[in-house]
Amino acid sequence: MTLPIVRLGKYEWRRIRSGHPWIYPKSIRSVPDRLETGDLVQVLGPREESVGVAVYHPGSKIRLRVLTTEVEVIDQSFFEKRLQTALFYRKKVLPGSNSFRLINSESDGLSGLIIDVYERAVLFQITSAGLEKLKTSIIAAIDNVLDPEILIERNDVANRKFEGLPEHKEVHKTPPNVSLNAYPATIDSVQYELDLWEGNKTGLYLDQIQNHTKFSKLLEQFPSKRVLDCFSYVGGFSIRAAMNDQVEEVVGLDQSAECVAKAELHAKLNNVDSKCEFIKTNVFDWLREKASGIEPENQFDVIILDPPSFTKNRHAVEGAIRGYRELHVRALKLLKPGGLLFTYSCSHHISDDLLRSIAFESACDTQNHVYEIESHRQSLDHPINPSIPESYYLKGFVYFKKEG
Ligand code: SAH
Repeated sequence: MTLPIVRLGKYEWRRIRSGHPWIYPKSIRSVPDRLETGDLVQVLGPREESVGVAVYHPGSKIRLRVLTTEVEVIDQSFFEKRLQTALFYRKKVLPGSNSFRLINSESDGLSGLIIDVYERAVLFQITSAGLEKLKTSIIAAIDNVLDPEILIERNDVANRKFEGLPEHKEVHKTPPNVSLNAYPATIDSVQYELDLWEGNKTGLYLDQIQNHTKFSKLLEQFPSKRVLDCFSYVGGFSIRAAMNDQVEEVVGLDQSAECVAKAELHAKLNNVDSKCEFIKTNVFDWLREKASGIEPENQFDVIILDPPSFTKNRHAVEGAIRGYRELHVRALKLLKPGGLLFTYSCSHHISDDLLRSIAFESACDTQNHVYEIESHRQSLDHPINPSIPESYYLKGFVYFKKEG
């Protein structure tokens, strides 16, 4: 196998050598003529040592994405091996689960590829021009390893434009008479109905599923009547709350009408609709209105804050901190003494300590005393790869609001 050779200099060599698959232009010393977008190349380090095989993109900030640190052919069988490895791990860490993220981009050694499995349906998404060129092999590998009933390409995401790729959706496989807009999936005893074709992202926030379960367990220990789920999406936390016998009332807030409708449907499917109310609103406005002058009888026993990332990059962190502070201050005012606050951040740029300090300072500001009683993180099907710090992004803490 002879591939064009790209040589690297010393810039960020330590990071690259430790296995991080992204290589920026400053690290590149020489590129052969006539390389095209998405071409496979062999990468050599500053002393001509082999780094591996990568895909090249002349216009992207991530100029090279390393696919393997071996020198091997990138074909269907390469992708099959990667999928098998990923599947083996998921079976270990999520035994009995039929819905999970099988490939989470670089943390599974395939930068720019997401594969989600929902029972017998598989959805995939490609955001690297290099992998786009290899799409036929990827589809064949998915088919061989998973043999799904339904196989859908959900390449309708805006960040494809960073690699010059158009948005595209396609059904590669489906049996007759199956509705792609209402596909049933039972995940950890909760019934969902997924819109595989139109739905936001590839379906659910699978990275929160294990936290929904931890949340349910804590509710058993802390009998609670009123639960407020801020940023409720399609009802993941809300439904789990309503399934608890002690819980009498769940309020879910989301600004998307589509999400509110889905959450209502999920409440019905799980026979808990009589306890649930989902409101289409901006969480900030709702909390601002309710948190001022709250009567003790209107306080909540449990509040969940699971906002979107607020920060796509390092520069937006300041603004995000203000947003998080506001949410925590208002939520702590609305929380009953003896109640629990679940707070999450899915931004890699908000560290554990930063989120903790936001929660702590908000408690000081509102003259509350809290204990941190649990820490949560992304579900294990979104692996954290120590050589890729960005692969750790979702963290959460549970606070107990002390009485008196
Ligand atoms: N807790 C959910 C995931 C939340 S995702 C789960 O466990 O599955 C974040 C949600 O916040 C999205 O549904 C989005 O529509 C909603 N959202 C974003 N900004 C909002 C705002 N200002 N007010 C209300 N909802 C908002």
